[in-house]
Amino acid sequence: MHIENLDEKQAMLAAIIENSEDAIISKNLDGRITSWNRSAERMFGYTENDALGQLIYIIIPQDRHQEEAMIISKLKKGERVEHFETVRRAKNGKLIHVAISVSPIKNGQGQIVGASKIARDITQQKQYEERLQLMHSIGKVISAQLDVSTILQKVTDATTLIAGAAFGAFFYNKTDSKGEAYTLYALSGAKREDFDKFGMPRNTAVFKATFEGEGIVRSDDITKDPRYGKNAPHQGMPQGHLPVVSYLAVPVLSQGGLPIGGLFFGHPEAGVFNEEHETLVASIASQAAIALDNAKLYEEVNILSNKKDTFIGFASHELKTPLTTIKGYLQLAEASEISAKEILPKVSKQLARLEGIIADLLDISKIQAGKLDLHFNKSSLKEILVESIESVDFTDHMIELDHPSEDVELFADQQKITQVLVNLLSNAVKYSPAETRITVSALLMGDEVQISVSDEGEGISKEHLTSIFNQYYRVSSGKKTPKGMGLGLYISKEIIEGHLGKIWAESEQGKGSSFHIRFPVERPRYLNS
Ligand code: ADP
Repeated sequence: MHIENLDEKQAMLAAIIENSEDAIISKNLDGRITSWNRSAERMFGYTENDALGQLIYIIIPQDRHQEEAMIISKLKKGERVEHFETVRRAKNGKLIHVAISVSPIKNGQGQIVGASKIARDITQQKQYEERLQLMHSIGKVISAQLDVSTILQKVTDATTLIAGAAFGAFFYNKTDSKGEAYTLYALSGAKREDFDKFGMPRNTAVFKATFEGEGIVRSDDITKDPRYGKNAPHQGMPQGHLPVVSYLAVPVLSQGGLPIGGLFFGHPEAGVFNEEHETLVASIASQAAIALDNAKLYEEVNILSNKKDTFIGFASHELKTPLTTIKGYLQLAEASEISAKEILPKVSKQLARLEGIIADLLDISKIQAGKLDLHFNKSSLKEILVESIESVDFTDHMIELDHPSEDVELFADQQKITQVLVNLLSNAVKYSPAETRITVSALLMGDEVQISVSDEGEGISKEHLTSIFNQYYRVSSGKKTPKGMGLGLYISKEIIEGHLGKIWAESEQGKGSSFHIRFPVERPRYLNS
C-alpha cells in the first residue's frame, strides 16, 4: 500500500514535471544532465536524448560559465539559488532570457548528489521592460531637443529598434518662409543613397494614406496589397530599392490633428510587425509631434529675435544719422561758414526725419503691446489726400491726383490714414527713379473707399509682394538700397486693419508698383456702442 502510494506520487510528480511550462532540468555535481523535461526541449531545442549525459554548459553562453561555478558552490553548501535572472543559449544559438531557481538534490543519506533547475523563459517580459525603458528614455531625450534634425533622427532610430524593422524612415513635411512645402527626412538602418535616387515616395497609393493622416497602415506582405504596384514610374518598389515585404507606416500628427509627416518601416521578411509595434510607434510619434511643434516655435522665436537684434542696431544707426548731420550744420554755423537762415530748413528737415523714425518706433511698440489706439472722427477725404501730398517732397517726381469731385466724409482716424498715405507716397518716391510719375487716385466703391498710389519704379517681384507687409522685411536690390527700417508697410497694415480694411500691392517688375488701401466709409458697427 505504502509502495503503491509512493509510485503514484512519483507518477504524479513526473506528470507535473513533464507538463510544466518551465524547463525543469536536473544534473549531477559534475554538471552532467540527468533529466530534461518537454519544456526544456521546447525552450532550448535539444531533445531529451540529445541532452541526457551532456554537460550543462551546452546551454550556458561562454561568457557566463563562471555563473555555473557560483551555482555549484552554493549547492555544495546546501543553499538554493532563487529567481536568478540570466541568459541561456538554445541549440540554434538564440539567446533566451531566463529566471532560474536551483535546489540541491540529496540522496537517502542526506548527501548532495546533484541539483534540480527550473528555468522560466522571461524573454517577453525582458523585451517589455526594455521597451518600456527605451520609451521612457526616448521620451525624455526628444522632449529636451529643440533641433528638428536631431529629433527626427532620434525618433527614427528608436522606433526602428522598437518595431524590430530592418530599416525605418521619418518623412517630415516642412513649410519654409515662403510658404513652400518640402520634406526633411531621417533614416535608420539604411543609407541616404538608397532613398535619394527614388525621389519622395509620398504620391504613391500606399504612402499617400499616411501623409494625409488617414491612419496607420500595417501589412504582413505589402507586395500583396491591392494598392501596391499601381503607381508610375516604378509600379511597385523601384528596382534597387531596399527589399520591403513587411510594412508599417504611422502618420505623425500635430497637436491640432494635422499630418506633419510619417514614420515608415520595412523588413525583408513577411509578418514582422504586429499590433504592439503599432501602439509603441504611435505613442512615440505623438511625443515626436509635440517636440517638433516646440522646435518650430523655438525656431520662429529665434528668427524674430535675430531680426530684432539686427533691427535695434539698424534703428540706432538710423537715429544717429540725422543727429550727426544736424551737429555738422551747427558746427558750420558756429564757425560762421554758413548763415543761420541757410541751415534752419536743413536742420528742420533732419528733425522731421528723426521725428518720423521715432514715431515709427513708438507705433511698433504700441502695436506689439496691442495698444495702437485709433481715434475715429469725421474726416475729409480731400484733406487727407492734400495733407499727405504736401508732406512728401516730390521735387524730382511728377505727382498726379485723381479724386471724386465732391469731398467724401469718412469715419476714420484722419491722422493715421494720412500717415499711411505719406508712407506709401514716400516709398513711391524712394523706390522709383527721378522724372517718373506718381499717381494718387481715390474712388468710392460701394460703401468703401479705395485709395491707390502707383509709381513707375522697378517694381516688386511676386515672391516679395505679401512679405513686404511683415515687420523688418526689406527687399534688398543689387544696387544701393534706399534707407528704411522695413516698418512702414507693417505699421500701415496694422492701421488699415484697425479700420476693418485691407492693404495690398500689385506690381509688374520693371514697370512699377501700385499700393491700394480700402476701408469702410461709415462708422464700423462695432464702434457704435
Ligand atoms: P522701408 O521702406 O523702410 O524699407 P516699408 O515697410 O515701407 O519699409 O517697405 C518694405 C519694403 O517694401 C521696402 O524695403 C521695399 O523693398 C519694398 N517697397 C515698398 N514700397 C515700394 C515701392 N513703391 N516700389 C518698390 N518696392 C517697394
